[in-house]
Amino acid sequence: MIIAIDGPAGSGKSTVSKAVAKRLGILYVDTGAMYRALTLKAIRKGCGFEDEKALIDLSAETEINLQASGDTLKVFLDGEDVGAQIRTAELTNVVRYIARVPGVRSRMAELQRSVCAESDAVLEGRDIGTIVFPNAEFKFYLDADPKERANRRLKDLMATGHKMTLEEVEKAVKIRDKGDMTRQAGPLRCAEDAIVIDTTRLTAEEVAEKVLKTIHEAKKS
Ligand code: C5P
Repeated sequence: MIIAIDGPAGSGKSTVSKAVAKRLGILYVDTGAMYRALTLKAIRKGCGFEDEKALIDLSAETEINLQASGDTLKVFLDGEDVGAQIRTAELTNVVRYIARVPGVRSRMAELQRSVCAESDAVLEGRDIGTIVFPNAEFKFYLDADPKERANRRLKDLMATGHKMTLEEVEKAVKIRDKGDMTRQAGPLRCAEDAIVIDTTRLTAEEVAEKVLKTIHEAKKS
């Protein structure tokens, strides 16, 4: 069973996906973490964001592993735990340059499919229900009011010691969403058969309950 959870930044995907995977006792795959890890490597290697060939070659020779550890997910880039380094505001602002390269996306999609080859999973991302697993049993698209999404991002950033204003975060989220929605390859889109949940006035627990209820009801019928 594959559960696809897509949506823009700050829509609540991570918390909800983690909670759903935990309740169902299945794998949780944060595909954004994979793009983030590859971006970190590209920065370290000094790869130009315009150099598509170098980025594709880099993605082919990079090993990215996700490992559940209690309530957190460890992200390993070529064996190194890079969990904290991939969450900085600076890195977040440039992931889209790597994520727009078609060859990089196909390599990431391949990796994501192989991770789930032998197990049920909840995958969160931008293109899971449309490209990576178009036949997923369950597809959800989470969205929320832009102001609320920026507020959530600000809270996350403050929790990790970043100092930004709400206006700065709002601007960064807007730019990121635009990049994710308008790229040619694997743009952020709601799959036609996805269930849309507006999370603006809901807690992550309430959203997770909605997702779980949909799955349980479908399984009963
Ligand atoms: O989900 P998260 O905010 O960690 O994703 C970081 C970035 O990775 C997104 O803004 C997007 O550019 C890229 N991404 C993507 N496709 C996915 C997951 C993430 O392009 N499936």
